[in-house]
Amino acid sequence: MKRRLRDLTVDELRGRRALVRVDYNVPMGDDGEVADPTRIRASFPSLRHLLEGGARPVLMSHLGRPGGRPRPDLSLAPVARVLERSLECPVRLLGGPDEQAERATREGEPGTLFLLENVRFLEGETSNDPEVARALARLGDFYVNDAFGACHRSHASTVGAARLLRPAAMGLLVEAELEALDALRSDPEHPFVVAFGGAKISDKFGLLERMLARADRVLVGGAMANTLLRAAGRSLGRSLVEEEVLDAAARLLERADERLLLPEDLVVAPDPESGGEARAVEVDEVPADAMALDIGPRTRDRFAEVVASCRTLFWNGPMGYFEQEAFAGGTRTLARASARAAAGGAFTVVGGGDSARAVREAGVADRLSHVSTGGGAALTYLEAGTLPALDALEDVDEDDEEGAT
Ligand code: ADP
Ligand code: MG
Repeated sequence: MKRRLRDLTVDELRGRRALVRVDYNVPMGDDGEVADPTRIRASFPSLRHLLEGGARPVLMSHLGRPGGRPRPDLSLAPVARVLERSLECPVRLLGGPDEQAERATREGEPGTLFLLENVRFLEGETSNDPEVARALARLGDFYVNDAFGACHRSHASTVGAARLLRPAAMGLLVEAELEALDALRSDPEHPFVVAFGGAKISDKFGLLERMLARADRVLVGGAMANTLLRAAGRSLGRSLVEEEVLDAAARLLERADERLLLPEDLVVAPDPESGGEARAVEVDEVPADAMALDIGPRTRDRFAEVVASCRTLFWNGPMGYFEQEAFAGGTRTLARASARAAAGGAFTVVGGGDSARAVREAGVADRLSHVSTGGGAALTYLEAGTLPALDALEDVDEDDEEGAT
């Protein structure tokens, strides 16, 4: 058991600087402002808890992939503006984890929110350099992780700094995420249905295998299905297929039984931009010069029927190239079926950045039991039952253990 922010005592909070890892890796608009503040809002329960407890939050996050050096277009300044507007408290952007920043965090007015500039501007963040971890840790008196989407990364801000500070606790968002995923891991009500889609199958093999052993139905669509169909000997024209894992996919198919459902028909087009030419074909009729970009109408009906009648659902990965309206139908059908299942009392969890966007665009996100802010983190946790950034947090009985020996 790891410590939780909600259990920290008044003395642990009041007047002390909370170094908080948040996930503000948000989509930015062409105007340079935050295009979708969902992930920022997801941190508010923890921030309010800290502010009300009299702590001084010092927030740190990454944004994009600046590769270890500053890039003005990936500054967190627009995020600071969103925080200031939404929380109605002063927000100070700190340039980097240096002496000046440390002094600012110690001397700042209570009620001020500090936001450290993009941690991936620092060389050594992603390699978990001990120097960087120490520099970050000097900005806080205790540590909180509320960056669920980054918990599968062993970086200086997620693991290194967490190991240097005590208390080190999970925030309210991470706690809620784990609660939903633990329910899927431990004792899901049956029928338990898992739906996979999205672009890459290679990093999802482990979970796919695990789910084939535990779920009643495993639906696979999206480009992920292409690789399985190809491994089953179908011709898929110019569709996105991961050639390097075809052998592994074939082995998986050998072990799979009737619980695995693959598309029966597909929507094809010459390429993702030529939606006007989209048409449905059987899986064994994909033309040599076409790409499979969505599941077909019969597959949609079949998948929707299975999803709508489940008691537990986990869904990761869009069923097609949903960024284009012509190929968004399969994903939308599944989103609506998920909402129907939820309305009937099923426990429904959707995880993944693109998947979360898809259910929001379909207007059903609020009706589902849980929409995870993390894709890779959710998948890794479901498979392994733990995450590197969680391991770095303080055990509930850490002091007892030390005292007993
Ligand atoms: P998530 O972010 O929810 O974890 P992924 O990142 O794994 O999902 O996959 C989402 C991407 O997969 C989207 O960009 C989508 O367009 C793409 N995709 C899904 N199906 C196909 C397909 N048949 N062909 C090409 N791209 C696809
Ligand atoms: Mg994605």
